[in-house]
Amino acid sequence: VFTTSTVAAAPEDPLFGLMKAYREDPSDKKVDLGIGAYRDNNAKPWVLPVVKKADDAIHNDPTVNHEYLSIGGLPDLTAAAQKLIVGADSPAIKEKRICTLQTISGTGAVHLGGLFLAKFHPQKPTIYLSNPTWANHHQIFSNVGLNIATYPYFSTKTKGLDFDGMMQSIKNAPNGSVILLHACAHNPTGVDPTQDQWREIAAAMRERSHFPFFDTAYQGFASGDLNKDAWSIRYFIEQGFELCVAQSFAKNFGLYGERTGAFHFVSAPGADASTANAHVASQLAILQRSEISNPPAYGARIASRILNDPVLFKEWEDDLRTMSGRILEMRAGLRERLEKKGTPGNWDHITSQIGMFSFTGLSEAQVKTLRSKWHVYMTKNGRISMAGLNTNNIDYFAEAVDSVVR
Ligand code: PLP
Repeated sequence: VFTTSTVAAAPEDPLFGLMKAYREDPSDKKVDLGIGAYRDNNAKPWVLPVVKKADDAIHNDPTVNHEYLSIGGLPDLTAAAQKLIVGADSPAIKEKRICTLQTISGTGAVHLGGLFLAKFHPQKPTIYLSNPTWANHHQIFSNVGLNIATYPYFSTKTKGLDFDGMMQSIKNAPNGSVILLHACAHNPTGVDPTQDQWREIAAAMRERSHFPFFDTAYQGFASGDLNKDAWSIRYFIEQGFELCVAQSFAKNFGLYGERTGAFHFVSAPGADASTANAHVASQLAILQRSEISNPPAYGARIASRILNDPVLFKEWEDDLRTMSGRILEMRAGLRERLEKKGTPGNWDHITSQIGMFSFTGLSEAQVKTLRSKWHVYMTKNGRISMAGLNTNNIDYFAEAVDSVVR
């Protein structure tokens, strides 16, 4: 018998709890370094100028209506999303062995991929997540019934990649495991493998017949270069892997609340690849239908207009450089300030880490003091969203860090 008295209270989501605490703090000094959303130099959300343009065009387009999209989403978006991530001249596209469904942003794409593997992978595989990873990965994959294991990723000593630990885990994982990889700008550490390390990772995974599950939420946002940020995925495809990709357009288009993203499944090359891929696509469509019926149209229309119009696409690249450039400036500025103050410790990692986040190495106790004494909000693992820093608060933040580290 089901009774609600058996349902225990769930803990508050740590990140959304942090946002709430920040909102309720009356201090005029408060600094929000928690949420992974871009902020401009005035700490305000930024509507990308190119997004505003596409949005206006949609409003003025008499042919736009509010009908359902198809199960797989807006075809113009999914085709463009494919080209964007795997490259227009990818063998996967030429050989018709990639299928794509529009999803509820990156989260929905990760979920759809997890659900598909849980249902169709013959061995009920274990999925290996980096330690640490985006916290939602644990929830999403356990919700669909996959076994979860972790591989070492972050070295607290170097504040860089624990490459040896990661490789050991990949080599020791049972054949045919699923390995979740952040394509670029790893969340929460900001630490990525080098291209040579990616090559070694791919070779070790090939050796064990592991299945790569790429999560890409920061393409173009990390380096400012869309191709560079997609390199790892393209390399694995070149190497002939069967793999999947969860792609988010939240950060790189600033379309957070519009829930725009895509899931791609690439079948391994071979004579039957396109047939096999069509089978996968047909099963994904059934899963999608039962989960969300069909994806939301609004953000998809915006992203699609930009991706399919060469002029808008160029403007988007400018906007990406604006965001990634401001973040790089903040990284350099923070490191410079800490070094100038002689803040104990080495701060190289602030500029060597990439993307939205930096794993500062601050302890949980230091994070607590930053919040209680300085009104600075960040996750308790010491991760800061670089986009929360700006020319108005960077001195204050450096002073706060210096004081809690001493
Ligand atoms: N994957 C990673 C690694 C992320 O950092 C995020 C967002 O923070 C997502 C996926 C999904 O985000 P969204 O569902 O908003 O696209």
